[in-house]
Amino acid sequence: MQKTPAPQLDDPPSGAPLSGLERSALRDLLIHGPKSRAEIARELGMSRASLTRVTRTLMEQGLVAEGAVELRGATGRPSEVLHIRPEGRRFLGVKLTSDRLFAVVTDLTAQALAEYDEPLASRSVEDVVEQIGGAYDRLAVEHPGMAAVGIGLAGDVASVGGRQIVLQSPFLGWREVPLADLVSERLGVRASAENDVRALTAAEHWFGIGAGYESMVLITVGAGIGVGMVVGGNVVTGANGKAGSLDHLLVDGGGPRCERGHRGCVDSYLSNAAIVAALRTPGLDYASVLDLARGGDPAARQAFRDAGHALGVLAATLANAMDPEKIVVTGDGIAVTELAGDEIDAAIAANRHPDGAPIALDIQPFEFAEWARAGAVLAIRDFLRF
Ligand SMILES: [Zn+2]
Repeated sequence: MQKTPAPQLDDPPSGAPLSGLERSALRDLLIHGPKSRAEIARELGMSRASLTRVTRTLMEQGLVAEGAVELRGATGRPSEVLHIRPEGRRFLGVKLTSDRLFAVVTDLTAQALAEYDEPLASRSVEDVVEQIGGAYDRLAVEHPGMAAVGIGLAGDVASVGGRQIVLQSPFLGWREVPLADLVSERLGVRASAENDVRALTAAEHWFGIGAGYESMVLITVGAGIGVGMVVGGNVVTGANGKAGSLDHLLVDGGGPRCERGHRGCVDSYLSNAAIVAALRTPGLDYASVLDLARGGDPAARQAFRDAGHALGVLAATLANAMDPEKIVVTGDGIAVTELAGDEIDAAIAANRHPDGAPIALDIQPFEFAEWARAGAVLAIRDFLRF
């Protein structure tokens, strides 16, 4: 991707910690865009005096600026608006897979400024922490003063005694790893770690198609099937970091076996590997099966149709359970929505509660770099201690 010159910071990134009101005002501007002082004061229930103090601090810290005069509201009267200064802080986002590290530097609005990836030297916790530190150091040459680091990985992450712990990550072979603390110690900046699907859900909820919604569901389709949920404006974690574990939801008890050995679950139809396995032809990979399906090959088309049916069952189940404002589908297996739209719709219709409102899925195009960017959103949320 293109590199842009690093903007100069007006203030050191390690400014004084923000107060609760300052964080609230900043969050409001980040999620909902520029607003007048009067709007912010009204929404946050602040007096004019305290809002003046809050905005002064945020402006002194280089996080917010007073905007150009715009025509706003029904009266059309001009009014000054406050807006985020994207260049006010920079953040490092990291995505770990079983064999690679992906890193991205973003600004305060989660726009990517630089990207970097490399193979993991090993899966030992010490080596991975050191490698994250190395990526930080390398990217800090052009983007000094990053305020916080966020790391997404496949696995169960939960808060234990106030610390975020990777309870387990089978891809990396980890159990009970205090990854955020270890990275924070190595780098001397705030660090957070989270399940990658939940991080992506947070990214969509703050900066993507779900911005401003109180409730939404995100389904990721690809190597695995992930579900992220937002309820009451918060990403749901669950007691053990396992909320949204619907990848083994039953679709058809007579279906194929999934990698975990049971039959006919969502994963056994919808994961990229399941779509390839359905063709029972050695030497194929997901890209080649996708080409076959697009070219009209009957077996490949059927594999995608079955995958679409499973996705529809999953989406209807989530809609019935959660009644969300939005259901977003993304991930590198997103082609199923292009090849099996009718099957998805039919499965939703068949599995939706009879009184349920119709569902329209929001299909979001996906690039792998989104995972690392979602890590940066974790860092931004942590910076605002949301
Ligand atoms: Zn299964």
